[in-house]
Amino acid sequence: MTPMFRQYAELKSQHPDAVLFFRVGDFYEMFRSDAVEVSRMLNLTLTQRNGIPMCGVPFHASRSYIGRLLKLGRKVAVSEQIELNPDGKGPARREVVEVVTPGTVVDDVYLDDKSNNYLAALAGTADSAGFAYIDLSTGEFRAVRLDPDAPQDALRRELARTSPREIIVQESLLETEIFTFSADDRMVINRLPDWNFDHRKAAESLNRCFGTVNLKAFGIEGEDVRALAAGAVLDYIEDNHATLLPHVHSLECRGADDSVGLDESTIRNLELVGNIRDGGRAYTLLETLDHTKTSAGARSLRRRLLQPFPKAAEAESCHARVESLYRDQSLLSSMRRVLTGVGDIERLAARCGMRRANAKDLIAIRNSLHRAAELRRLVGDELLDCCSASVIESLFERGAELADFLSRSLLDDPSTVLTEGRMIREGWDEEVDRLRRIRDEGKGFLDDYAAEERAATGIPSLRIKHNRILGYFIEIGRNQASGAPERFRRRQSLTQVERFSTEKLEDLDAEISSAGERLIERERELFTDVLKTVKDAVDDLLTLGRLISDLDLVQSFAHSATEYGYVKPRMTDEPVSRISGGRHPVVERYLSDGNFVPNDIELDGQSVSFMLVTGPNMAGKSTVLRQAALITLMAQCGAFVPADSALIGTADRIFCRVGASDNLARGESTFLVEMNETANILRGASERSLVIMDEVGRGTGNADGLAIARAVCEHLLENTAPRTLFATHYMELTNFVHPRFRNLSMAVTETGDTIVFPKILQEGPAEASYGIHVAALAGLPETVIRRARFLMESASSASPPSRQPPVRETAPLLFDPREMILDAVEGLDVNELTPLKALQLIARWKEDLDS
Ligand code: ADP
Repeated sequence: MTPMFRQYAELKSQHPDAVLFFRVGDFYEMFRSDAVEVSRMLNLTLTQRNGIPMCGVPFHASRSYIGRLLKLGRKVAVSEQIELNPDGKGPARREVVEVVTPGTVVDDVYLDDKSNNYLAALAGTADSAGFAYIDLSTGEFRAVRLDPDAPQDALRRELARTSPREIIVQESLLETEIFTFSADDRMVINRLPDWNFDHRKAAESLNRCFGTVNLKAFGIEGEDVRALAAGAVLDYIEDNHATLLPHVHSLECRGADDSVGLDESTIRNLELVGNIRDGGRAYTLLETLDHTKTSAGARSLRRRLLQPFPKAAEAESCHARVESLYRDQSLLSSMRRVLTGVGDIERLAARCGMRRANAKDLIAIRNSLHRAAELRRLVGDELLDCCSASVIESLFERGAELADFLSRSLLDDPSTVLTEGRMIREGWDEEVDRLRRIRDEGKGFLDDYAAEERAATGIPSLRIKHNRILGYFIEIGRNQASGAPERFRRRQSLTQVERFSTEKLEDLDAEISSAGERLIERERELFTDVLKTVKDAVDDLLTLGRLISDLDLVQSFAHSATEYGYVKPRMTDEPVSRISGGRHPVVERYLSDGNFVPNDIELDGQSVSFMLVTGPNMAGKSTVLRQAALITLMAQCGAFVPADSALIGTADRIFCRVGASDNLARGESTFLVEMNETANILRGASERSLVIMDEVGRGTGNADGLAIARAVCEHLLENTAPRTLFATHYMELTNFVHPRFRNLSMAVTETGDTIVFPKILQEGPAEASYGIHVAALAGLPETVIRRARFLMESASSASPPSRQPPVRETAPLLFDPREMILDAVEGLDVNELTPLKALQLIARWKEDLDS
């Protein structure tokens, strides 16, 4: 092994779970399995050196490659050449200077400005586990205790709503097999041995980070698994990236029920933030509702959609704020105009906290603070989500002072590079002004000095000049040189001129040539002071940032209400859903104007808790089901809803199982996934939940599918009785009799041979499933449709159906006697047929069939 490879192997062994970027000249090289994996992931050319696979990226483009690897859930360890070997032989010494991990990045290039970037931790025991998560780019830090009755479900819910990029897991928890992860989770998983998780150590870490003496301030007493998980997060960051922590000022501990429980499949099936097709934003609720003007506002909206309010009162208070903007459209548009200029205060402030901000960041903070002051003048206290008027007042006052401070200290368009000497504003510091004048106007100083000396000596030919050997010098014509005073030191005599120097000229020379450097040094000192002042105000900035992102969220709701004609829902904590003229917020936007057919839904947990919706495919069942869930969710997010009117009883959990989603990537069959999700619903739903189920039992044979669907219905009706909307193609279920059960169906209008779906939800079960009609509408060949009709009719007349010969056992289709008989029957004129002729025909047909 060559010395360089030995060095590589040593560094790699220190970071076995990271891709090692090994600096060689102008490239970062990767070797062995890293090279094989990364070349595939990033589409790089895989080559070989001494039989060892390798690939590389140019160092100046490394950030974009690192960014892509982080997105794919990998860590990257970056090594640099530190120094040449002291004896000049052997390879340059290299060290890993940075480990970039998806959950701890704070550079804008690696972050998505519209989503949070979380690092999470899972700690405790199988019976009592805590989950904590932090967004280092904004300082948000929370912890929650997982429901001990269904810890795996609870973890899945937390993962679904936070989508961490990286998680730290206590090793023994993985061994219990209660908590499992798969490649599908797309996050870096750091397994840490149990000795890293200790209550006393965790409390110490938290107290050290927050400067507290105990954890009571966070609502934690004794040994709490939330502190264990939160402590693990802090330790991990401290061990790897200590400088990132200073701006994290608080930990918010919450109970498991402080937002509506949404599991992964509900989030996916309702297409809240990503569509089912490719996970993108198109056709999602987020896309429809996102009219925010700031990145922090967009992040708030995303968080809110994934964590709606569980209680009516909280949603109502948000509705009231949306309403006041909705009713004052001119205020709404002024707010939208002002918000447009607000930067990402949260992330800018966090960067100041970490001392990573540059002068442009501080100017962005100043400009945002000016906008904040403008917003403050526009909106009343009632629009701000804050505890008291006096707190708001002093917060904005301090914000204005900080903005003023930044205006006075920094240039409007400062340089981001310290070495340009272009950050500090004129008038802020005398020394900077002087140095800058000397640097920029050095020649003027010399001209002044030359004039001064001409006057003092009375020698009119006295000039100041410069060359590389002497630097600045005084030059006097030979004939006048004798008049030079004694303080002029002779430097050089030429035939025509004498050259001199003076003490003052030497000082000026030194000053002019060093002014640039001293200016940079002085600016650096002053900028550090300015940054420190801003850093001291980080708490204020984060609070202001949050108030403004919340305002942005509220105006976004008011704007979508205006744009799409939403109404304010009435709220209750009773299990009632009374939606009149409800619409699907996303589907209606993609249909041409006015084509969406509104529908009513009325569920009252006491009298009717279960609605069975039947009807042919394409009649609109899924849409009506999902819209009931989306309207409920929107109302609980504090938004107005697409309906004529709505009374929404808050749901503690919303479940949505729609369609058979194929999850082969996880190695589970579709049916298994379907049953997993169903089990999850039956286990987790309470009488305050809302359950949407579409076509359960479809993934297996007809008989057991029906049996399962029926048993699931019975369970939902008899046990916890959540409000349930259940779409099915099993017509047998419509015979159900139960006081809380109601049959509904999607209307079908038959015109001649074809059918039309008016998309109206009506009382009573569907009359037929119209599958063949739909097949005909879809353009199946006429012969196939006729054949299907024939098979259908013979199946329904034969009794019992199981005695019907299986289709595959009949003669090949082309010569099928049934087809010919069918044609013959269709061609018959019954009015012309005598009884004898009819009997003869039947006898012949029977012969054909038996042959
Ligand atoms: P099903 O679940 O019964 O097969 P879907 O809900 O998937 O039917 O609806 C089929 C299509 O009809 C959808 O693509 C949608 O665009 C349209 N649609 C559904 N509901 C409505 C409605 N209320 N008004 C107008 N179009 C609708």
